[in-house]
Amino acid sequence: MSSEFALINQYFTRPTRHTVLGVGDDGALIAPTPGQELVISSDLLVEGTHFLADTDAENLGWKALAVNLSDMAAMGAQPRWATLAAVLPSPSFDWIEAFSRGFFACADHYDIDLIGGDTTRGPRAFCVTIFGEVPPGQALRRNGAKAGDAIWVSGQPGRAALGLAHLQGRTTVPEPNLAHCLSALHRPQARVELGLALRGVAHAAIDVSDGLLADLGHILEQSGCAARLHIPALPAAGLERDCWLSGGDDYELLFTTAAESDGVVNDLAAQFNLPLTRIGEIESGEPGELVLCDDGGKIITPTHRGFDHFS
Ligand code: ADP
Ligand code: MG
Repeated sequence: MSSEFALINQYFTRPTRHTVLGVGDDGALIAPTPGQELVISSDLLVEGTHFLADTDAENLGWKALAVNLSDMAAMGAQPRWATLAAVLPSPSFDWIEAFSRGFFACADHYDIDLIGGDTTRGPRAFCVTIFGEVPPGQALRRNGAKAGDAIWVSGQPGRAALGLAHLQGRTTVPEPNLAHCLSALHRPQARVELGLALRGVAHAAIDVSDGLLADLGHILEQSGCAARLHIPALPAAGLERDCWLSGGDDYELLFTTAAESDGVVNDLAAQFNLPLTRIGEIESGEPGELVLCDDGGKIITPTHRGFDHFS
């Protein structure tokens, strides 16, 4: 058996739960639920750009899948299948074993079948493609926000960026917050259940990967709306607020609902034991325009909105 095939066999082949034919043939076979739409999304993780060479391999395996699951959550999709294309330098089997352990921990947690992929030698990088299902017309899109909608965010954005700032020595986060920040950075939770529950409730949704302002900007541009955010809902000034507004890598959900859905959203927060914070409103106005104000009406202009690979 070639070492490439042995490696795939040992580290990337597991029994599937809802797949006709998984890893091992020229292609995988899946039987989508009749009548459902397929939702498909890919994410690349490149060493030096998305993770550092000394990143813990097990955490990276988890994150490689979790960031894709977050896209499914933001679409209101039920994720089911994934493929993994892996570029690996000369094989370090301990490293691959740890990566595989993290990847399958995430796959098991969210009931995802790994159904195929590709493996080749080169500078380390991973591309996961994920396939999910959604009833026709019920996917949550970025372009459905309407003037008057409430804007919500799940969890506590900024934790991952604060954790990174701590690791880079730019701040010191005390325990027990540090543990939460590092787990947000290394083991992000995809808000899949929340995304499913927001079908028929949210008008627009996106996951916060590039920073809250940048991702809200995508909703505004695609929906042709403006927005007002309320500073009292935000952390105090300083690095914490910067991380909250512009820090990426959170994988929380940012969504809008009709103003009269407040009760429904608060019930979901209780049901999932997950903070859902109303942070502002969608307004008619110049598409993409964003105003941040405190109680006194003071306007704050953030220095930058978030992460852009090509800026
Ligand atoms: P082919 O030569 O037809 O491209 P490969 O030898 O690349 O096939 O892959 C053999 C099988 O292993 C295929 O089913 C493929 O989908 C699967 N596979 C390859 N790499 C991975 C990976 N990293 N994770 C999961 N499955 C993989
Ligand atoms: Mg191949």
